[in-house]
Amino acid sequence: MPTFLCVFFFTGWCFLASSQEKSHCFDSTLLIHSIQEFSSDSMGGRETGETGGMKAQYYIQQRYRQLNLLQFDSTYFHAFNFANPFKKSKIKGVNLIGWIKGQTRPNKYMVISSHHDHLGIRNGAIYNGADDNASGTCALLSIAEYFSSYPPSCSIIFVAFDAEEMGLLGSKHFVSKPPVPLKNILFNLNMDMISRSKKNELFICGTHHYPQLKILLNTVDSLSSTNVIFGHDSGSMRTEDWTFASDHGSFHKKKIPFVYLGVVDHEDYHKTTDDFERIDPSFYIRSVRVAVDIAKRMDSENAKED
Ligand SMILES: [Zn+2]
Repeated sequence: MPTFLCVFFFTGWCFLASSQEKSHCFDSTLLIHSIQEFSSDSMGGRETGETGGMKAQYYIQQRYRQLNLLQFDSTYFHAFNFANPFKKSKIKGVNLIGWIKGQTRPNKYMVISSHHDHLGIRNGAIYNGADDNASGTCALLSIAEYFSSYPPSCSIIFVAFDAEEMGLLGSKHFVSKPPVPLKNILFNLNMDMISRSKKNELFICGTHHYPQLKILLNTVDSLSSTNVIFGHDSGSMRTEDWTFASDHGSFHKKKIPFVYLGVVDHEDYHKTTDDFERIDPSFYIRSVRVAVDIAKRMDSENAKED
């Protein structure tokens, strides 16, 4: 083949490949690379107050910086202290907060969240927490990437919470000392475990409490081959109620409408085997597309004046 044709086909292929990878306006290759790194042994299981937890915080800080997210009080690090239940000492938790200013309603906010902490190292074994919750945290970074390119109408606060595994402590701190008035926070989208499902099912929890959201989100990513199902929020005997299962519970207690994205617990939940190798990259990318879609819809809905 002549050289110029080689070049043509090669560059053409690159263009197609990269446009597919970025088809929903976040880089899916980067997403998979991120979850691999964030759930690697080098992060030491990301336990609150431990070296691994701090490494995770610096990783998020670096990504926030690259995306030029804005800061509250000139920092992304928002620390809080709480009593160590096993010793007479304090543990320091750190929420990582960045934000993007809205174009038309900058004083109205959506909070997109995930928790970055996990269980650390126990008896010498590292709990990498790939699904729980490297998946939600790296999804948060991809959503921030999307809105950095396509600025929202309302402002968006991105929060990676600490100490969720110790009782939703990071989100409880956030709603008790919010960086903006709570009344200006219109919605919370929380993600916790979204990267694998044997049944190809991703749940949207929260619309039982906020039925107006169900109408809005009824056709979310209807082209996705994932089964996107509303549920796990009605307190019925048939399914577990996840209303307070993760950080969205702290927003719900303050009567802030929320939607939580997650999958049912799997055999590796809170085990040393919750590793990168066990996530389903294709399912995960689709989950993040669903999350971007929800965020876009909520932004355009909230863009309307009261
Ligand atoms: Zn979790």
